[in-house]
Amino acid sequence: MPKEKVTPVRRQYLDIKKQYPNSIIFFRLGDFYETFDKDAQIVSRVLDIVLTSRNIGKGTRIPMAGIPHHAAENYLSRLIEQGYHVAICEQVSDVPVDGLMPRKVVRVITPGTIVESSLLPGDGNNYLASIVFDDQRAGIAYVDITTGEFAATEIQEKHIQDFVRSELLRLNPAETLFPENQPWEEEGFLTHFTSFPAWQFEEERCVDVLLNQFQVSTLDGYGIRGFPFAVRAAGAILQYLEQTQPDSLRLLTGLSMYNLREFMTLDAATRRNLELTETIRSGSAEGSLLGILDHSITPMGKRLIRQWVSKPLLDVERIRKRLEGVTVFFADGMLRAEIRESLKNLQDLERLSNRVAGGTARPRDLVGIRETLQQLPAIRGLFPRKFGKKEYLGELFKSFSLCTDVLDLIASSIDEDPPSILGKIGIIKPGYSEELDNYLSSTKEARDWIANLEVVERKNTGIETLKVRHNKVFGYYIEVTKAKTDFVPEHYIRKQTLVNAERYITPELKEYETKVFNAEDQIKEIERRLFYEICDRLALQIDRLVTTARIMAHIDVLSSLAETAANHGYVCPEVVEEDVLEITNGRHPVVEQTLKGTRFVPNDTIFEPSERIRILTGPNMSGKSTFLRQVALIVLLAQMGSYVPAESAKIGMVDRIFTRIGAQDEIHAGQSTFMVEMVETANILNHATTRSLLILDEIGRGTSTYDGVSIAWSVVEYIHNHPEKRAKTLFATHYHELTELPELLPGIRNYKVSVSETEGKVVFLYKIAAGGADKSYGIHVAQIAGMPPTVVLRAEEIMQLLEDSSGKAVTMDPEMPKQMALFPSTNPLLKELDNLDINELSPLEALNLLFSWKKKYLDLSRQEPENED
Ligand code: ADP
Repeated sequence: MPKEKVTPVRRQYLDIKKQYPNSIIFFRLGDFYETFDKDAQIVSRVLDIVLTSRNIGKGTRIPMAGIPHHAAENYLSRLIEQGYHVAICEQVSDVPVDGLMPRKVVRVITPGTIVESSLLPGDGNNYLASIVFDDQRAGIAYVDITTGEFAATEIQEKHIQDFVRSELLRLNPAETLFPENQPWEEEGFLTHFTSFPAWQFEEERCVDVLLNQFQVSTLDGYGIRGFPFAVRAAGAILQYLEQTQPDSLRLLTGLSMYNLREFMTLDAATRRNLELTETIRSGSAEGSLLGILDHSITPMGKRLIRQWVSKPLLDVERIRKRLEGVTVFFADGMLRAEIRESLKNLQDLERLSNRVAGGTARPRDLVGIRETLQQLPAIRGLFPRKFGKKEYLGELFKSFSLCTDVLDLIASSIDEDPPSILGKIGIIKPGYSEELDNYLSSTKEARDWIANLEVVERKNTGIETLKVRHNKVFGYYIEVTKAKTDFVPEHYIRKQTLVNAERYITPELKEYETKVFNAEDQIKEIERRLFYEICDRLALQIDRLVTTARIMAHIDVLSSLAETAANHGYVCPEVVEEDVLEITNGRHPVVEQTLKGTRFVPNDTIFEPSERIRILTGPNMSGKSTFLRQVALIVLLAQMGSYVPAESAKIGMVDRIFTRIGAQDEIHAGQSTFMVEMVETANILNHATTRSLLILDEIGRGTSTYDGVSIAWSVVEYIHNHPEKRAKTLFATHYHELTELPELLPGIRNYKVSVSETEGKVVFLYKIAAGGADKSYGIHVAQIAGMPPTVVLRAEEIMQLLEDSSGKAVTMDPEMPKQMALFPSTNPLLKELDNLDINELSPLEALNLLFSWKKKYLDLSRQEPENED
């Protein structure tokens, strides 16, 4: 459409839309955010809002959909969840320029840049991440603009994309930026990917952006120099924030470099299999390791413990420090109880402070900060002794500030119970600002006059039911019920008639009203200005506030770990550099809590120096998987700095835990299950080191028995023989063939889960003992699963026959060609089959033959019930 034909507002809209082509523009018009054109169609579809149209000049109409501005958050969250970006375009002044209200995009909301508390996840971080890589090197950076956490790392590896993927899965960001020219497989992630111009990832540009952000002349202080990929990832994030949430940049006062080698690597499959933060079945934290471990109380504690579970450490000293911190709270139950009680009064200081610094705080946020800071002296006072500088708590307390100046400022300036939003009266306390106080007192007379009017007029007129009210249309008015209108004085001017009442004004009332309304506007303006000034002053203290918040988070997490340890009988593990793993009477932290009425049977895991691989055989349901996972979880707990469910544990640093757990769910059938399994096994063999822990549960199960055994066998051989991959391995299998391996390879031992069998009854003991299991007990499981007794008895008979014919027990593998095995070799049908020459048969003959066999087979099976008697 030619330029001159559209209305000025339309032109203004189009100009703004041009700058934000990839966002839905929420264009503020009065009390509504309006969307137009394609945006309106999306909004109408996603939010189920009526699509209307608007005249933009000369009879041309365009699609339009609007939402009330006060309800925007709810609508926003639904758009963001769907991965849309929304640019909020506000009217930025009340004074028209060239007959048009100035409007500007004040922020762009994307999944990674949300600050609205109602849209944020409660107990996790909301990360915006950024990735950039070539064949060998990758940079990853992430930021949580609600907490001010900003970090970056760089990796150099052969299988670089695997590393990027596993780090992204660990971080689980809400949104991830990547250069638009860099191919990237987006499947398998929950994060929303946002492509960003490649030039904004250029190193030189990014260095400048970082220098400028931190107002420094060199990046040396941040440890990022010499890591061009980390610089690029971090720089791109800042540029993205500049475009979307410029206010949030104020919070980012520093960047911490981290090294993936500081943390145990846990790939996606392992995180899932070990159910670290959520269960496979329901996806919720309950029933996961985090669910058992997390007794933290504050929101910042909840975020921190989740990070610890996701990032077990590799540095013995750091782990010992954390354990020492846990011990302080473990050893002193009183202290623990008191601390936990007082932590209940803390609010999310980390996010509140950041909202203040980011310019999005509301009056109640400051009250939240005040209430939190008021608790600090009591919390500090609970600690009975001074901690040495080298102690974990000593280190924490070193940078601990009670922030009394901040507390004083808020306490003296902000009302005890202010309105929840700006623009209402009553935010600032009397006595804080002379200007405000003067204004309040000079207009007091008018406000009092109106406030007293009801009482005065009731008295003057004698009308007991007379009311003074106000609304938007008429301002203040006097309301008298119909029955009493005869008593209304002459100077009342009737303004409106209702069914039961009349509404009046008086010239005097209108005079005072003008005074009051003007005054209220002024007061609101002054309060708003003062509020922002206070926020600005608080923003200068952001570092201290956030540090204090993080110290509280640590205290919360340490005392939470101590609480778990005390409740469930955990011990402090001994963590060491050497390559050892000795767990006495270890338990599975989650399973032990779910056994109701029965006792969890503890088990030892002691890897002798000469022993690298343990083959564990035992019937289904005997506790093999539980045992395997329990070893992995104990190691992980120890390395995150937690006590462990065992009688004692000595844990040498494990660099990675790998798990390969046979397909439990049958969602992917046949080939694809097997493919997944082989891909995961290949990943393990490619990345394992001698310091890794491998948990292999039923590998090879997704294919036929012989393939399966062969693959399992060669995998074990490979791990055993490869000098750099001799990881400690626990291998559970029901392939009894594998129990022959220890005879051939010295570093492999057999273990079995003990089973007691007396008078035909089988009892699982869940105890691991040396030696290979010699029997499957699959039939026993069938029995406890409620199979009809006929089937169980018949199965036992067949088992007997099979054993007689081969001289050896055979497992009841679900994948085994069962139909063949069901025919004992004496079966006459087998003889016939053996003698048959298929090439001689016509299709019809073949069909007839099948019919006759089927009949014979049915006759044979019918004899069965008679056998039963
Ligand atoms: P498998 O892997 O051998 O099929 P699981 O490890 O899945 O067996 O264990 C089956 C069930 O046995 C578990 O759900 C749990 O209820 C119980 N169980 C496992 N280990 C123990 C144990 N050590 N003590 C008590 N019960 C256990």
